[in-house]
Amino acid sequence: MSTRQDVPPKTAAWLHDRAHVFHSWSAQATLDPVVVAGARGSRFWDESGRTWLDFSSQLVNVNVGHQHPKLIAALKAQADTLCTVAPYHANAATSEAARLIAEVAPGDLNKVFFTNGGAEAIENAVRMARHHTGRHKVLAAYRGYHGATAGAASLTGDPRRWGSEPGMPGVVRFWGPYLYRSAFHATTLEQERDRALAHLADVLAMEGPHNVAAIVLETVVGGSGILVPPDGYLEGVRALCDQHGIMLVADEVMTGFGRCGEWFAVDRWKITPDLITFAKGVNCGYVPLGGVILSERIAETFAHRPYPGGLTYSGHPLACATAVACLQLYREERIMEHARHLGDDVLGPALRELQQRHPSVGEVRGVGVFWALELVRDRKTREPLVPYNASGAANAPMAELVNACKARGLWPFTSGNRVHVVPPLTISDEEAREGLAILDEVLSLADRHVSA
Ligand code: PLP
Repeated sequence: MSTRQDVPPKTAAWLHDRAHVFHSWSAQATLDPVVVAGARGSRFWDESGRTWLDFSSQLVNVNVGHQHPKLIAALKAQADTLCTVAPYHANAATSEAARLIAEVAPGDLNKVFFTNGGAEAIENAVRMARHHTGRHKVLAAYRGYHGATAGAASLTGDPRRWGSEPGMPGVVRFWGPYLYRSAFHATTLEQERDRALAHLADVLAMEGPHNVAAIVLETVVGGSGILVPPDGYLEGVRALCDQHGIMLVADEVMTGFGRCGEWFAVDRWKITPDLITFAKGVNCGYVPLGGVILSERIAETFAHRPYPGGLTYSGHPLACATAVACLQLYREERIMEHARHLGDDVLGPALRELQQRHPSVGEVRGVGVFWALELVRDRKTREPLVPYNASGAANAPMAELVNACKARGLWPFTSGNRVHVVPPLTISDEEAREGLAILDEVLSLADRHVSA
């Protein structure tokens, strides 16, 4: 077990950060960021040499690990060839990235519009669906996260939306399946699936399905809880969309490119959406990149009518060159297979064992390298370890757990009352077990809050 790590003195990089860098989602005065000096594989370190095993993949994006030499080589080679070009030109890196993405995308999803990240992908997917259908309403699920630009924030169904309200008009929200905290008083997965689908059909009826351009959902809800849909749910949503001519937008920004052990999480249920949004794992964030994969039918809408949207850096060569290298890597290094092995043989069984040992673990759920431990004060009532959207003193039990992980050399991903276990897909079994052992140790802190 690693020993506690001393806090190093503040360096110039830290001081300049605090003086001049404005960080995401934070009260600026409260921040004390780690100055990351380097990284490799599943670990990163600071300027004083403190090292962490990365159980977060940063923001669930570093699927192939940090500083993969093949991605770096591709980036350097592209930098020598062509750094940037206007998006109305073609170039070899962008066209090859699009070809490789279309090759692994399901069904007739065959064209790619590149963006700089996930939120822009969502904005464009919705714009495409609205123009294709000539309708304006968009249905999105509570607990989904879709990004922080105006439209994407409006579609978000968790507290990260609140600060951007009032948002984009035309968004209607519905509840997706989440048996552990069922909105439908369901007690079985089948009930949860059937009631969630009946509820969605009701919402559509009340909104007038002929007004609805798209249903946007995360295939497996990520940031808001790793909610794996029951078998049959996505098939049911697909059927409702087909019935009413509604576009199904699968947000695979977090789940795409192997996180769930498949190219896309929709592959698990053999669903073909009309549009897929992606980012993160497409090139693991070595250069910002996201995009929308469109069906041939939607692309056809814009064959002779201009698409009313664009970005200066759409299809950026440096980003696309790393995507090409990354997509090749997934195959060469059999990363999907390893992700499935990690989920089935290492993470899943070990996390269920943690649930046996720790009364604070209310539920374990996940797939591939995408897992959550939902922490509670009482397994019977399922009272969460910290209240919904807690901050400050109310969030102290989770903050204590996070600090204990970091002090032991593990960088966790936590959200609300959950610990998400989302390391790089390339993590070795031994490294995964090392991180799980630290979780085992620190969960005793959460156990102390469990009512006797
Ligand atoms: N959609 C999902 C499912 C996400 O998880 C995220 C980010 O975490 C986004 C969209 C937004 O992506 P970005 O932060 O690249 O804009």
